[in-house]
Amino acid sequence: MSTDILKCALCGLPVEIEGFSLETVDGIKSFCCAGCLSVYSLLNGEKIKE
Ligand SMILES: [Zn+2]
Repeated sequence: MSTDILKCALCGLPVEIEGFSLETVDGIKSFCCAGCLSVYSLLNGEKIKE
């Protein structure tokens, strides 16, 4: 139970690189790549904190 792998909030792949994350009303979401981040922000624009 020591592995704490983040999964991409959009596609579910393991997040290997930190840096693609977004603060939303549901908390911090992490993404595997800039593409997933931008798609998520398009789909959930109203949830994202500025
Ligand atoms: Zn992804």
